[in-house]
Amino acid sequence: MPLFLFRILPGVVLLLCFGIAPQRAVPAAPPERIIRGGSIVTVNPAQPTAAALAIADGKIIAVGDEADVLRLKGPNTEVSDLGGRTLVPGFVDGHSHFASAVDVQVQALCASPPAGPCASVADVVAQLQKLRARRTIAPGGFVIGFGYDPDLLAEKRGPTRQELDAAFPDNPVILVHVSGHGAMLNSRALARFNISAATPTPSGGVIGREPGGNEPSGLLFETAFLPIFSNLPGPTDDEFVELLGSGQDLYLRAGTTTAQEGATMKRQLDLMRVAADRGLLKLDVVALPFIAEIDTIFAGRPPRNEPEYRNRLRIGGVKLLADGSPQGRTAFFTRPYLTGGPSGQKEWRGEPTVPQAMLNHWFKQVYDGGATLFIHCNGDAAIDAVLEAHRFAAGDDPAKPRGTVGIHSQFIRRDQLEKFAAWKITPSFFTLHCFYFGDTHVTNRGPEQASFISPMRSARALGLRPANHTDFNVSPLDQLFTIHTAVNRVTRSGKTLGEAERVGPLEALEAITIDGARMYGEEKQKGSIEVGKLADLVVLSANPLTVPAGTIESIRVVETIKEGKTVWRRAAGDDRP
Ligand SMILES: [Zn+2]
Repeated sequence: MPLFLFRILPGVVLLLCFGIAPQRAVPAAPPERIIRGGSIVTVNPAQPTAAALAIADGKIIAVGDEADVLRLKGPNTEVSDLGGRTLVPGFVDGHSHFASAVDVQVQALCASPPAGPCASVADVVAQLQKLRARRTIAPGGFVIGFGYDPDLLAEKRGPTRQELDAAFPDNPVILVHVSGHGAMLNSRALARFNISAATPTPSGGVIGREPGGNEPSGLLFETAFLPIFSNLPGPTDDEFVELLGSGQDLYLRAGTTTAQEGATMKRQLDLMRVAADRGLLKLDVVALPFIAEIDTIFAGRPPRNEPEYRNRLRIGGVKLLADGSPQGRTAFFTRPYLTGGPSGQKEWRGEPTVPQAMLNHWFKQVYDGGATLFIHCNGDAAIDAVLEAHRFAAGDDPAKPRGTVGIHSQFIRRDQLEKFAAWKITPSFFTLHCFYFGDTHVTNRGPEQASFISPMRSARALGLRPANHTDFNVSPLDQLFTIHTAVNRVTRSGKTLGEAERVGPLEALEAITIDGARMYGEEKQKGSIEVGKLADLVVLSANPLTVPAGTIESIRVVETIKEGKTVWRRAAGDDRP
């Protein structure tokens, strides 16, 4: 018998004699903190629930029976009482844009309820005017708004360039679309970026034109918008670092203990590094350098992941882009949109961001370098292109585990999902779309295709373990609402979108804990409440596994704990998500 079996045998015998024994690692010193007094949902199938846990050196050292865990208590152990509330693992962000936590403090929120206050074009203009006043933006200074959704405004359209010119004759205005993939610019902003009637529409992009002419309407999407997006005027370096410090509270109040910066520019990475090295980060941040910036970020060397966090920041892969957004009608499909293109195009299927040859080259560059590849893809034609690029770059071993992630993968077909399973490509789904854009997708794509959006249940049935995400600041950072939408799949108008794809609350919780951790290759340290893992934890006001499914959205994060330390606590009387 091998030696290791002798070592584990006593534990096995104990388990057989007394039922479930508490998980415990023998600590050198008493724990710093014990948490008890509520429900503990561990997301560990070997021990799904527990009554108490103990923490030392930022790690979980015991999980189990209250009496057993309390026996470890020393004179300096802090005992935290859950007061009947529920403890779950810290949330692991399947995809969002951490640096947006800076943007949202210096830009106007122009989203529609419940994500923002805008019900009409006038509301959008008012939000922009309020920002100009609040930040005392001088004539010539940029006024930037985000989150506007033309489909949800009373007029069923966004502000025109002329309306923005009238309200802001002296300021360039950029109003970023809710997808983050396009914007409406006023005349001053168009001029500042040298976009005129003479500017050709770039391949993979949209420049809206005035009827009957070549004059830009102000609407830009995809590759026409990317150069502006990459150079959005923003805060100074010092201001950025400071705002990152305060902005991370948005993530902490959502219970997120590992965040993603899901398309990192060189400057953002440099400034996040400054913030990290000053000790400002209270949660782990996985940065994914944007493909267009990897030559500068990796200084000409092959793109690589950083295996360890340094002061809570590490590079965890590279972000690529295959198409646009379905709600912006720039996602790339094999069949046309039922409603045409964003500037009235007929027989419009959307477009790939780059030609297939370029996508193949990108995949090869990232695979050869050994970094994890995260690719944004939404429409089924874009997903075909992703599979083709994977086949090209992976050579004769397409099934080798590379950790490749299809961010969104929203309109994946069943045959493509099977390919994802065979080739070990993990989808990071976006079930919030069922609520925020579900009705729009039914109009744009028809009920059958819309119902298979983010097919969480089918993916799991094929053995995939999809993550789930907010794509902040595309939608608010409400992690309980990601669980709610994965479980209920109800649209704004109250229809169920794809009943067969609903999952249970535990599966929905797994997607934003253990499956998110697995996506980053961090499942040995994070994602469940188990001995030896980091004490990244969230206290919830109620148990998402036991409340009626339709009320999961009303559960609030009460406290967020990173490596045993409380990093955010809800103030009395605060009932916002
Ligand atoms: Zn994104």
